[in-house]
Amino acid sequence: MQNAAFAALGLDWRYLAFEVAPENLRAAIEGAKVMGFAGLNLTVPHKLLAVNLMDALDESARVWGAVNTIRFEGRTPQSDWRPPGHFEKDAPVEIRTVGFNTDADALVNALRADLQLELSGKKVLLLGAGGAGRTAALRLAAENVSALFLVNRTSSKILEIQQEIKQKFPAVYVGLDYPKPPHSEIDLLINATSLGLKSDDPSPLDEKLFSFRQTAAVYDMIYRPSATALLRAARSAGCTTANGLGMLLYQGARAFEIWTGKTAPLEVMRRALEHNIYGL
Ligand code: NAP
Repeated sequence: MQNAAFAALGLDWRYLAFEVAPENLRAAIEGAKVMGFAGLNLTVPHKLLAVNLMDALDESARVWGAVNTIRFEGRTPQSDWRPPGHFEKDAPVEIRTVGFNTDADALVNALRADLQLELSGKKVLLLGAGGAGRTAALRLAAENVSALFLVNRTSSKILEIQQEIKQKFPAVYVGLDYPKPPHSEIDLLINATSLGLKSDDPSPLDEKLFSFRQTAAVYDMIYRPSATALLRAARSAGCTTANGLGMLLYQGARAFEIWTGKTAPLEVMRRALEHNIYGL
């Protein structure tokens, strides 16, 4: 999607994937910096590790405690920091790394665009408390949901998230189980576990404890396969559904804007994703 966006805007830029072992992250970032890269995206497990490696953190990375986007900035003779595109002729003598997080807002944007959902005042059941689940829980709390129900295989993780939300967003009710009366009807169920990536995975949802009839909408962060068993069952039960493609799109679109300073061509990027992931 990034290469399609660069081409659409006539930018002679390339987006490439590199596999980097966690112990080499610092060296990889330093290497990209001196080779004149404009920026980087990071994925698991680098998002948390990178926080302490940045020269500066944007508010988004500070608030959500993870970096998925890095912008390299050069110092101008006037001593302010500019993205590399600014330096047409002479390469800057000093370059710094700035860490951003574009994942957290991407979920909210995707829920708004794909499920027409405004989160304020809504009740949400969130399955999973790994990297994506934790960020989602905090971002949903920041959006003033009225109640958040957290379910995860490893219960210590949801306990930690509950404590963090209590401190940062005290108005949000956080339950550590499936919703029960009087909260048993909710607006949205989100799957942030990795269950559903493989066709023989068990369901992330315990249907003995929660029925699809109790929720209006279901969002699965997984986008490959395009419809997990969870989404198919939710659709049959009459729920509004969406998969994680929108999340992927919006985090990428924001990263594009951070690097280039230009508005992301969203539809070009969406079509590139659909073509590359689903062969459409
Ligand atoms: P992660 O940090 O590895 O977390 C995995 C989560 O799945 C944890 O909550 C884990 O529970 C749970 N889990 C894994 N295997 C399980 C099992 N056998 N039974 C029950 N629970 C299990 O991964 P992540 O980065 O948060 O990603 C989670 C999912 O979101 C993945 O499917 C990923 O593809 C998707 N995602 C999508 C986007 C997007 O742009 N659409 C972005 C990020 C992530 P424990 O805590 O107990 O281990």
